[in-house]
Amino acid sequence: MEMPVKLMDLLKLDKKLVSLDRLAVRDIREQFERIDDIRLFNQAKVLRAMQEERLSDSHFAGTTGYGYGDSGRDVIDGIYARVFGGEDALVRVQMVSGTHALATCLRGLLRPGDELLSVTGRPYDTLEEVLGIRGSAPGNLREFGIGYSQVDLKDGSVDYEGIRRKISDNSKVVFLQRSTGYDWRPALSIRDVKSIVNCVRELKKDAVIMVDNCYGEFIEKLEPLQVGADIIAGSLIKNPGGGLAPAGGYIAGKRELVERCASALTAPGLGKKCGASLGMNRSILQGLFLAPHIVAEALKGAIYASRIFEILGFRVSPGYGEKRSDIIQSVEFENKEQLLSFCRGIQKGAPVDSFVTPYPWDMPGYGHQVVMAAGAFVQGSSIELSADAPIREPYYGYLQGGLTWDHTRLGVLMTLQQMKDEGHIIISGQ
Ligand SMILES: *Cc1c(COP(=O)(O)O)cnc(C)c1O
Repeated sequence: MEMPVKLMDLLKLDKKLVSLDRLAVRDIREQFERIDDIRLFNQAKVLRAMQEERLSDSHFAGTTGYGYGDSGRDVIDGIYARVFGGEDALVRVQMVSGTHALATCLRGLLRPGDELLSVTGRPYDTLEEVLGIRGSAPGNLREFGIGYSQVDLKDGSVDYEGIRRKISDNSKVVFLQRSTGYDWRPALSIRDVKSIVNCVRELKKDAVIMVDNCYGEFIEKLEPLQVGADIIAGSLIKNPGGGLAPAGGYIAGKRELVERCASALTAPGLGKKCGASLGMNRSILQGLFLAPHIVAEALKGAIYASRIFEILGFRVSPGYGEKRSDIIQSVEFENKEQLLSFCRGIQKGAPVDSFVTPYPWDMPGYGHQVVMAAGAFVQGSSIELSADAPIREPYYGYLQGGLTWDHTRLGVLMTLQQMKDEGHIIISGQ
């Protein structure tokens, strides 16, 4: 796996980066075996689901207009349901993002007087506006008389005592976020999800347990529904799209709950029966087929980034040897300029738009400026190598994705070169 010096010349990388790369690669190798083991298991899961749903060439033909009788779309729903362990699923290009999938879930499940109880602290930034706990976007859940409360994490861990205290008769939906989000905490493992499910079931048997599964798909052998959660949602331009799905979101879980979400997405009465697939079926399916492999590649890249930034003296989360439950690698930077330099470096290492400079902007749905480096084939796709960060203290940068771990390795090295050239880091002989 050693990087030839010639290659470093080609990429105009300092010699010192060669030894740094060698050190990091040596240290992380041990982790790869576990990742490959999980990858194989998940590949089998996807393969079996496609066979059991009798996926066939004819399913790749798309529909237009209403999309009635789109057998490919229905087969995709069936395959997603099997892969994620649900009774049913809703996979649609009409869901414009992960936020839309999650919001659709919430609108489908909650009614006036109900309350959403988040047990993993503040939910992902964009959901704050959906819930109406930030801003006053029309149609937020608060406008509909839907309440919200949360149990904060305690030193990054679930506060079971807090759940016992806060859960009430109105806690219709109990909400968990698996991934880190713009936070500094370990992702929730499947084992954690299972403990929360057990705790909640004991306190309120009929609570609907919903998991924001963004960035968590195919990291472990089991998914949240397989340890007792009721419904999950996520984005197709993250893990399960395998880099090929051009857009979309998914929801999977109990049949009756998925039906409610379908009503919220289209219209009561229309539910799952409408929604043209517009020629996207093949990409969604081929992407799902590749997803276990792509996620493994992204994980290897994240572990590499973790180690190399750690060697350079940065605080990282998770550490390269720690167990992971999402594809995110967090790095703490000293100041805003260093963080922006990091993002410029990632952008420079991208196959698309490598020549543009990312700037912080008021991204819709976020309460602060966000900088995003994503020179991706699919706009904003974060299963492709990308980095983003909210512009606020402390300056955490989040690296994720990478369709091949080779690309992440090269991209990170180019980033370090860029940061050095801009005077933001010193690379001494390692
Ligand atoms: C990405 C993400 C979302 C949704 O984000 P979109 O950009 O709308 O797809 C929600 N929750 C978490 C934890 C995420 O990582």
